[in-house]
Amino acid sequence: MQPVLPLPRLDALRSGAHRLSGLGDAALADACGVHIFFTTREGGVSEGAYGTLNLGSHVGDDPACVQENRRILMEALGAAGMPLVMPNQVHGDALVVICDGDPAGIEAAQAAAAAGADGILVGVPDVAALLCFADCVPVVIVSPTGRFAVVHAGWRGVMAEVAPRALRELAALDGLEGDAADPAGCNVYIGPHICPSCFQTGEDVATGFAGRFGAGCVPDARHVDLQAALAASLVRAGASPDRIASAGACTRCQSERFFSYRASGGVCGRQGAIAFRKAG
Ligand SMILES: [Zn+2]
Repeated sequence: MQPVLPLPRLDALRSGAHRLSGLGDAALADACGVHIFFTTREGGVSEGAYGTLNLGSHVGDDPACVQENRRILMEALGAAGMPLVMPNQVHGDALVVICDGDPAGIEAAQAAAAAGADGILVGVPDVAALLCFADCVPVVIVSPTGRFAVVHAGWRGVMAEVAPRALRELAALDGLEGDAADPAGCNVYIGPHICPSCFQTGEDVATGFAGRFGAGCVPDARHVDLQAALAASLVRAGASPDRIASAGACTRCQSERFFSYRASGGVCGRQGAIAFRKAG
């Protein structure tokens, strides 16, 4: 019997031994073993625009600091040494599916992720997926079976419907493995991202969103509510509205706490959305 997950919630969590702070769902880990965490800028060793917990490479930070920040994160979450899969994010809808936790399987997944992907589905324990953000929307989807997906969705990714695709694929994976395929039973967590007031865009983009996801996701002709659009697309794919939780935090409004591409003028670090399931 797979468990019924507790309704999702995102609470401020802090690791006792570290200064690391972020958002997670402790009850979820108790129910199905899956740990999820959205980081903030706090707790790392990077400086300046990357201060302090920058998890993104290729953004101009010292690679040694990025490496140390990732190590600090994994240790703080009790997952030191766990294999980590991080995609080269390309604002598309490609997913990498990890069903093989042995070294060759991990290596193949890392190669596929490096080739470009915006979602990682993990079907095995003791493998972590980490994606990076600075205004774009982090989405973590967790099945009652303990399989999960971590997704990166900027406005292009929302339009490409990468998150509902991940939800469908996750349910399909559960079915393939002999479990119930139940998108309505999955928990969806939407992490800190740019709010509708801060996300000014072209009228063509706003019009496209209204046409695809409904007028409710376009407060006016130049602004888009990415979270509303995402939620609409996920519900169409079978998600239960009461199983979609949001951090309710804007990266640009709170640029002291989060990295924001728009607030920084383009030079900044990246926060992370990470998930893993521990064996046993
Ligand atoms: Zn804002």
